[in-house]
Amino acid sequence: MPVNPQILGKLEHFQRVLETWPSEHLARPAQRPSHNPTHSFWIDSSPDANPLAGEGSQDPLPSNADICIIGAGITGVGVAYHLIELMNNASLSFEHPLSIVILEARDFCSGATGRNGGHLTPAAFLEFARRHALFDTVEAKKSYEFEQHTTSLLVKIIEENGWASDVDLVEGGHISLLFTEKEEEDAKKDYEMARQAQLDLDGVEWVPKETVQAEYGAPYAGFREPGHNVWPLKVVTKLYQHARAHIGQSANLSLHTRTPVTAITQETVDNSSAYTVVTNRGSISCSRVVHATNAYASHLLPFLAGPEGIIPTRGQVMAIRASAGTDQIKTSGWDGNDGFEYWFPRPVKHDDEKPLVIIGGGREAVGPGYELYVDSDSETHPVVGKALREFLPSVFEGKYDPDSEPEMEWTGIMGYTKMGDPFVGPVADLLAANLQRDLYKRQYIAAGYTGHGMPRAFGCAEVIAQMILAELSDKEWKEPAWLPQRYLTWNRRVE
Ligand SMILES: Cc1cc2nc3c(=O)[nH]c(=O)nc-3n(C[C@H](O)[C@H](O)[C@H](O)COP(=O)(O)OP(=O)(O)OC[C@H]3O[C@@H](n4cnc5c(N)ncnc54)[C@H](O)[C@@H]3O)c2cc1C
Repeated sequence: MPVNPQILGKLEHFQRVLETWPSEHLARPAQRPSHNPTHSFWIDSSPDANPLAGEGSQDPLPSNADICIIGAGITGVGVAYHLIELMNNASLSFEHPLSIVILEARDFCSGATGRNGGHLTPAAFLEFARRHALFDTVEAKKSYEFEQHTTSLLVKIIEENGWASDVDLVEGGHISLLFTEKEEEDAKKDYEMARQAQLDLDGVEWVPKETVQAEYGAPYAGFREPGHNVWPLKVVTKLYQHARAHIGQSANLSLHTRTPVTAITQETVDNSSAYTVVTNRGSISCSRVVHATNAYASHLLPFLAGPEGIIPTRGQVMAIRASAGTDQIKTSGWDGNDGFEYWFPRPVKHDDEKPLVIIGGGREAVGPGYELYVDSDSETHPVVGKALREFLPSVFEGKYDPDSEPEMEWTGIMGYTKMGDPFVGPVADLLAANLQRDLYKRQYIAAGYTGHGMPRAFGCAEVIAQMILAELSDKEWKEPAWLPQRYLTWNRRVE
């Protein structure tokens, strides 16, 4: 969510809430993904949207695997994709074909990736001043360079493989509306500091209130930045199918949906340690485990429960029809109200067609909790729903009918971290005590995108795949120049 749109702009509010949060909520690990999630546009609006929904759910589980990836969202599928691409590009092979298994609790890609806002927009400069104060110039710049890396790579893969129309990729740009003087001042300060630090600000443009009013009919100033929107589930489906099709002789890949992992225990096989990954359909002996479970990570890694770890946070989204045509609504993605609300019109073929707009946010209406520590996507929140219904008619006069009801409304669970950035790397490095660290050797994690995962998760997945291949090849992992240091687990002890 909040690309800048989404959440990053809200980090301040979120951190304030955390400081005053009642302690009884803090110790409880996340529950497993709920059995009866709300229906999202991306998953449920057409019967063929999720062709891999039940993939492998009836197939027997393998008795062992080299790598068990838990979670089939953009992170888990991204790790499998990158493992295979990296192996193919370097003609890597090992003693036996590398066996990679993805285990997913529910249907394929039915977590946050299948229920999000659909924005694929790297933050251009927002939050630069805060990051500059917290870290240094190089690290602050990497936040944006990393998102650029991830987004360009994903867009390049989509375009080179000819998937753009299948996955509804739209390069509509993104406009942030600045509702208050304070928002405008903060954004200008971020921009100025980023410019002085020579961050690439190509494509960023300030849009005065009069222009926004004349072109779009909203009475606010804003800024435009490059950005895409996309059908996230379809991208992840293509990535999985591509990985399967390019597997070659040196690896094999299988996916087992509707197979929740209930526990991970340590075992010893041929004098080396491995894990028993326990599911409701049997167990797999795995040499390595990747936690790609985002909001749900603390279910299997309980020390990640609480404010220093990954906080499940419910987001709500709806698909609502505009009452004006695409000629007036246009194709840009948007956010407004300090990044709380984010929306974009679904691609349409004709100018006079009234587009379906996907809008998320509204959590500020349930103050002071902001839906933090809510880990069930089985229901929507009526107060959030009311805020979302009222938002567009109040911003764009005459373009949305205030009495119009959404065609679909759903929730999904995001994984927040206090810093706003994900944890990436070996799980053991999050822990200080050696004894505890031993329990997690060769387990990896990439999770905690704080509602801003589309321009980050696929890049974090690439890092995990690199780390695993380095470990398997007995080589040292070389840190890519684009990766923010603070994402790495060894810089982020939680205990
Ligand atoms: C409502 C909402 C709106 C958002 N909007 C945007 C947006 O517009 N732009 C943006 O950049 N980001 C957005 N995000 C954030 C983005 O969707 C996430 O950061 C990203 O999808 C995370 O991907 P992931 O693969 O790590 O996690 P997920 O997609 O959540 O995948 C994790 C998977 O792990 C599975 N799992 C969990 N526990 C277990 C277990 N024990 N056993 C087996 N499987 C398990 C889950 O079922 C799930 O499928 C939004 C998120 C939400 C919820």
